[in-house]
Amino acid sequence: VALPPFELHRPRDIAEAAELLSQFGDDGAFYMGGTELLLLMKLGFASPGHLIDGKGIAELKTLSITSAAATIGAGVTHRRLERHPDLRRALPTFSRMESLVANIRVRNVGTIGGNLCFAEPHSDPATLMAALDADVTLVSPAGERTVPLTEFSKDAFVTDLRPGEIMVRINLPLPDPATRIGYERLAFKERPDAAAAVVLKDGSYRVVVGAVSGRPTRVLQAEQALQESGGRDVAAAVEATNATIAAADRMDGGDYRAHLAGVLVGRACRSAVASGALA
Ligand SMILES: Cc1cc2nc3c(=O)[nH]c(=O)nc-3n(C[C@H](O)[C@H](O)[C@H](O)COP(=O)(O)OP(=O)(O)OC[C@H]3O[C@@H](n4cnc5c(N)ncnc54)[C@H](O)[C@@H]3O)c2cc1C
Repeated sequence: VALPPFELHRPRDIAEAAELLSQFGDDGAFYMGGTELLLLMKLGFASPGHLIDGKGIAELKTLSITSAAATIGAGVTHRRLERHPDLRRALPTFSRMESLVANIRVRNVGTIGGNLCFAEPHSDPATLMAALDADVTLVSPAGERTVPLTEFSKDAFVTDLRPGEIMVRINLPLPDPATRIGYERLAFKERPDAAAAVVLKDGSYRVVVGAVSGRPTRVLQAEQALQESGGRDVAAAVEATNATIAAADRMDGGDYRAHLAGVLVGRACRSAVASGALA
C-alpha cells in the first residue's frame, strides 16, 4: 500500500525539529523508526502533509549510565537497550523486557520514545518504567519540562505531549543491588495482552499492571497487601489486582484481563524474589 504524499524535513537538532513541529501544527508529524506512524499512514488513519524525521538528531540517540540513573535518548532503539552491556549489568530485568518487545525487525528501528509517545496500551516498557519511577523530558519552542512517566501516559493513545513538543530523553533511576524487580508478561501474538511489574525497594512495594486498561495502572491495594505481610501474602496481592482491574477495566474481556493481571502480579512477585537471589 502506498503512503499518501507528504513533504519530508530532516532537522539536525531538537530546536529546529520543535520549531518545524510548531509551525506545521496538525499538518505535521514527528517520527523516528516509523513503525507505528507509517503504518497508520498506510492504513489511511493519518495523512500529515509534513513529516519531521528525527533520525538525524544526535541528541536523541545518546545513552549514558551512572550508578544512580540511566539517561536514555528518546530515539534509542529497543535493540540497543536490549543489548547495552552496562544496562544489562545494572538492570537485567529491563534488558530482558526489551528483548521481549515485538520482533527483531521492529526492535532494530523502533524507539523507546516512539513507544511511549504513541501510548498504545499494549506496551512493555511503559509498565516496567512506571514501576521504576522513570520521568520524561519534553522540549518545545516554549522551553523544557520534565514529568513523571505515570503522569505522561494518560490513556490509550493519549499522552501529556503538548502541540509542538518532542520527547528528548527518559531518566530511569537505577536501583541499588538490594532492590528486587520482577516483570512478567503474557502475549498471544507480538504485543503483550497483560503485563505486571513488581519492585521492592527500601522495604516498600510498587505494583504496576499494564496492557489491561488504557495505561499502566498502579495497584495500591496489592502494594498494601504485600507491605502488611512483609511480602508473604502474594495471594492477597493477586486478589487485590484482580478486583482493581475488574472495577477499572474498559477493554474487551474485562474479567479475563483482570484474572490475567492477577496471575502476572503473582508471577512478578516470585521473579522479584528470585532476582534478589541473583543479586
Ligand atoms: C508488529 C509490532 C509488534 C509490536 N510489539 C510490541 C511489544 O511486544 N511490546 C511493546 O512494548 N511494543 C510493541 N510494539 C510497538 C513498538 O515498540 C513501537 O512500534 C516502537 O517502539 C515505536 O517507535 P518508533 O520510533 O518506530 O515510533 P514512530 O512510529 O516513529 O512514532 C510513533 C508515534 O510517536 C511519536 N513520536 C515518536 N518519537 C517521538 C518523540 N521523540 N517525541 C514526540 N513524539 C514522538 C510520533 O509522532 C508517532 O505519533 C510493536 C509494534 C509492531 C509494529
